[in-house]
Amino acid sequence: MFDKKTIRDVDVNGRRVLVRVDFNVPLKDGLVADDTRIKAALPTLNFLAKRGAAVVLCSHLGRPKGKVVPGLSLKPVADRLAELLDYPVKFVSTTIGPEAQAAAKELKPGQFLLLENTRFQPEEKGNDPDFAEKLAKFGEIYVDDAFGSAHRAHASTEGVTKYLPAAAGFLMEKELDYLGRVLDAPEHPFVAIIGGAKISDKIGVVESLLWRADRLIIGGGMANTFLAAKGLAMGDSLVERESIETARDLLSQAGEKLLLPIDSVIADAFRADASSRVVAVENVPEGWRILDIGPKTVERFRAALEHSKLVVWNGPMGVFEFPKFAEGTRAIAQAIVDCGAEAVIGGGDSAAAIRQAGLVDKISHVSTGGGASLEFLEGKVLPGVAALMDKDARL
Ligand code: ADP
Ligand code: MG
Repeated sequence: MFDKKTIRDVDVNGRRVLVRVDFNVPLKDGLVADDTRIKAALPTLNFLAKRGAAVVLCSHLGRPKGKVVPGLSLKPVADRLAELLDYPVKFVSTTIGPEAQAAAKELKPGQFLLLENTRFQPEEKGNDPDFAEKLAKFGEIYVDDAFGSAHRAHASTEGVTKYLPAAAGFLMEKELDYLGRVLDAPEHPFVAIIGGAKISDKIGVVESLLWRADRLIIGGGMANTFLAAKGLAMGDSLVERESIETARDLLSQAGEKLLLPIDSVIADAFRADASSRVVAVENVPEGWRILDIGPKTVERFRAALEHSKLVVWNGPMGVFEFPKFAEGTRAIAQAIVDCGAEAVIGGGDSAAAIRQAGLVDKISHVSTGGGASLEFLEGKVLPGVAALMDKDARL
C-alpha cells in the first residue's frame, strides 16, 4: 500500500510548486531521441497546471560530473515538453542562479519553468544542504515524480525535502504501487524472470525474489554463471568467476524452483554477424559463446509461465541488440503477454526490448526506473521515497 502523500492531498492552487522529474532522456543531434520519460510525467504536470499551480521543474541529465557540459543541457527537453503540454514552458540556462530566480518569480499559475541540469552543480550529487535550500526556494511545495532517481539521496531528490512539504506525483505513485505489490502482496502463481549480463548487479534481486516467487527463471548472460556453477563448460561465454560460489549457494537454496536454460544459441564471436548455431548447454565448444537462449529453453520457460497470475521480468535473455540473438528475448516477451498474467517489467534494457518487440501496450507496467526498480525489488528503502510526507502526516 502506498502510504505517502500525493499531489491529490495538497492544495496547490495559486502556489509555486517545485517538481523533480526524471527527464534523463537520450539525446541525438541536439534533439530528444526517446521521450518516454517526458510523457510519463505529463499526468502530474497537467494535473498541477489545471489546479492552478505555477510549476518549476528540475531534473538531471546524463553524467556531467558537476560541470557545465553544453551537450547535456536540458534545453532540447524543454522544447519537446513545450510540444507535449498545452501550457507555456520556459527554460533558463542556470540551475539556481539569479536568472532562474527572476524567471521563477514571474511565473504565473498554469506556466512551467524548467531549470538547467541539476548535475551541472557538484552540490547536487553531494546532497549539499545549502544548494538544497536554494533549490527549495523555487517552490512552496515539493513534488517528486522522478522514480528513476529515487534510489539516490541527492539534493534535488532528498536534500530539498528538509525545507519543503514533499508529496509524490502520479508516476511515482504508480511505480510504487505496482512494484510494491510485487513485494508485499503478489498474486500466485508468481513467476520472476531475471536475465541480463551480470549476476553481481542482481544478486540482491535474485535473493529477494527467490523466496517470494513460486518460480524463478534465469536467462541471459547471468545464466552462464549458474551453469558454470553446475560444472558445465561455458567456452568463451560471459561468466563471472567471482560469483560462482554465490550461484552455487542459490542453486542449492532454490532447488526445483529455479529454472535454467537447457539449450543456447552460440556464436563464434561477439558480433552481430557472427556464425551461430543451437546447442545443448552441456555442449558449448571452446572458442564459442552463448549469446541467446535456445528454442527448447523458450518452450520450457513458456510452460513455466502458463497459468501464472503475476510475472516480474528484469534483464534480457540474450544479446538482443544483435537481431540474430534477439529471438529468445522477443519470444519470452511474447510468452509473458500470452500467459495473461499481470506483468511488471523493470530495467532499462528490458524496457527497450519490450518496446522493440512492439509489446509495451500489452504489459501492465513498464518501469521508468532501471536502478531504482532493482533496488526497490531488493527490498531496499529508496531515500527519495522515504523523504516524502506520510499519508497521515498533518499538513
Ligand atoms: P536491464 O537494463 O534490463 O536491467 P541489464 O543491463 O542487466 O538489463 O542487461 C542487459 C545486457 O545484458 C544487454 O546489453 C545484453 O546484451 C546483455 N546480455 C544478455 N545476455 C547476454 C549474454 N548471453 N552474453 C552477454 N551479454 C548478454
Ligand atoms: Mg541495463
